[in-house]
Amino acid sequence: MALMIALLGQLNFMTSIQDICDFLDWFAPQRLAEEWDNVGLLVGDRNSTANRVMTCLTITPASAAEAINKGCDLIVSHHPLPFQPLKKITADAISTRMLLDLIRAEVAVYSPHTGFDSAAHGINQSLAELVGMENPKPIIPIPNDPDELGSGRIGDLNPSISLAELVDRLKASLSVGHVGVVGQMDATTHRIALACGSGGTFLESARQLGCDTFVTGEANFHTCLEAEATNTNLILLGHYASERFALERLASELGKQFPEVDSWPSVQESDPLKRY
Ligand SMILES: [Zn+2]
Repeated sequence: MALMIALLGQLNFMTSIQDICDFLDWFAPQRLAEEWDNVGLLVGDRNSTANRVMTCLTITPASAAEAINKGCDLIVSHHPLPFQPLKKITADAISTRMLLDLIRAEVAVYSPHTGFDSAAHGINQSLAELVGMENPKPIIPIPNDPDELGSGRIGDLNPSISLAELVDRLKASLSVGHVGVVGQMDATTHRIALACGSGGTFLESARQLGCDTFVTGEANFHTCLEAEATNTNLILLGHYASERFALERLASELGKQFPEVDSWPSVQESDPLKRY
């Protein structure tokens, strides 16, 4: 009897991959993900135990090796792997080789991606709070969503600040040395829109909602020209800088929620694009 109670007690402290999936689907709901996306548990057995969980922005050879070397049971990778449907999983290509290695080492993969971008405590909401946006609303709301969530965020800065001050605020909060800017640094910014990652496609919708400044991770040259031609200030933070901080925060959220699980943000991943 004593043994059984001891065993039951131990069972209570066993966290399954499914327990983590349940938390993640509450924190970064899959229902908020874009239609084209691939989110949720992408690799692994949801009934396995999760003792060690690593978060990262992207599964790369470096972050995959870190997970395997540290005996990680689950990687929570913002960007999905796999993303596209696969016909084979061989060592012939980088992405499928990583998948093969992770499967061999019994490392599961969960990707929240655009569900995390859009969530109530997601990446865009966090960016909105970092810049001091008042009353942030989605740029593109999900129709009939009870929580009024959706893609990107738009809202006002009170008091208004200069584009230079906004740039400084973002650089300081995200610890980035350089950002790309379209616009005059002494221009006044009041109504700000933002979208993490590659958010250039949201520029037009954000402009129609009256933003004078649009902040995203990266955008192509034509989006920069479009911003210039429409007198919209554009700040490019870098894709990595616009999202990685949120995966560091997610690791500490997981640590709070599951104190028995060892959770950490990947230390091996870094921005491949260096700015000088
Ligand atoms: Zn991204």
